[in-house]
Amino acid sequence: MKIQKALLAVIIGSALAFGFAHAADAKKDAVASKVAGCCVKAAADSKACAHPCCVAAAKEKNNCTKCGGAGAIAAKK
Ligand SMILES: [Zn+2]
Ligand SMILES: [Zn+2]
Repeated sequence: MKIQKALLAVIIGSALAFGFAHAADAKKDAVASKVAGCCVKAAADSKACAHPCCVAAAKEKNNCTKCGGAGAIAAKK
């Protein structure tokens, strides 16, 4: 019985670890292309954000990390 319980604990433990790993991956993906709030507002007005830091980041095809963005700008289709 003790062995069965231990085995069960290992199975549940690895299942949880698998779930956590997936959750971490999903988080990573979300962070990978986060547009800064100011740039989202500008985009809503069909404008490019006027912040110098955002313009500089956009040139590198990145979201402005200074304004809360992260990662590369998502490619337009
Ligand atoms: Zn901006
Ligand atoms: Zn900025």
